[in-house]
Amino acid sequence: MKLNNQNINTELLEEIAAAAVTKLENSKCTSRSRWINAVKKAVKELQSNCYWSYDARNFDFVIMSETSNEIYSVSTYCGCTAAGKAQPCKHRAMHRLLMRYAAAAA
Ligand SMILES: [Zn+2]
Repeated sequence: MKLNNQNINTELLEEIAAAAVTKLENSKCTSRSRWINAVKKAVKELQSNCYWSYDARNFDFVIMSETSNEIYSVSTYCGCTAAGKAQPCKHRAMHRLLMRYAAAAA
């Protein structure tokens, strides 16, 4: 399954994101409020940003930043500034949402 801004079902995406937020709210993770913010930004950007693609076969997620035009290839690692400071970032949140989305849509 290959996902992009054109073929993603926004209703399912919103459902997956809401479930992720609930899971985070109930977690004891010390960075949970930052992850919740990251998930909220992630779900918006997956709908507004046309320049991303996700391949469910190899979990490859590539996105061009809306703000910096940098291209990020994201997995559990991300090359953005926030991730560099060991903080949650919206790119890794998007990657996780897409993994869950692909599993739910399969
Ligand atoms: Zn990032």
